[in-house]
Amino acid sequence: MAKDNRQRLFFALWPDVATRKALRHTAQPISGSPGRLQHPLDLHMTLVFLGMVESERLACIEDAASHIRCEPFTLSIDRVGYWKRPRILWCGPSQSPAPLNRLVADLQDGLSACGFVPEKRHFLPHVTLARKVSVLELAEEAHSCEWPVDSFVLVASDTGVAPPRYKILKKWAMDS
Ligand code: ATP
Ligand code: MG
Repeated sequence: MAKDNRQRLFFALWPDVATRKALRHTAQPISGSPGRLQHPLDLHMTLVFLGMVESERLACIEDAASHIRCEPFTLSIDRVGYWKRPRILWCGPSQSPAPLNRLVADLQDGLSACGFVPEKRHFLPHVTLARKVSVLELAEEAHSCEWPVDSFVLVASDTGVAPPRYKILKKWAMDS
């Protein structure tokens, strides 16, 4: 099978322009190397990671997404963190709101009909802000932001040699 028949795909929440700007300023590192910042246009929250997918499977994936019923909700991004092993600086909600958990669970349910095995790991909502971050000390106060969520997207990863690396393939609006 030709390699270009496959894409690395994931479902995500994509920030609007104002949220994107606010997300960039949630973390205030006070010491350490800032590492490689995520390109502003690449900032996102992954909902479900699909991995390499053959184009034949796209119809099933899009059909599963179109059956999702979810009301718009607001995400309070009020926490920043640093994962030492992957050396990632991130921000996220200190509590994952019920509509977000439901959205992820419903997506995983729907996608199981397309042959995807639901992620066993607990969903940990986060936005990667920087990678390859070394020993970091963060300001205690996160600069919180409110993220109005009214859609979710299907994204292709690694679409170019330089950032931005992600490309939105399709967007689904949430019903109010
Ligand atoms: P890179 O892998 O080049 O460092 P990346 O992780 O941003 O960059 P991808 O690996 O294509 O790019 O991942 C796309 C999105 O899916 C990212 O938000 C990433 O955190 C998430 N992701 C990647 N692999 C998995 C996985 N195995 N399980 C859950 N989420 C994943
Ligand atoms: Mg990765």
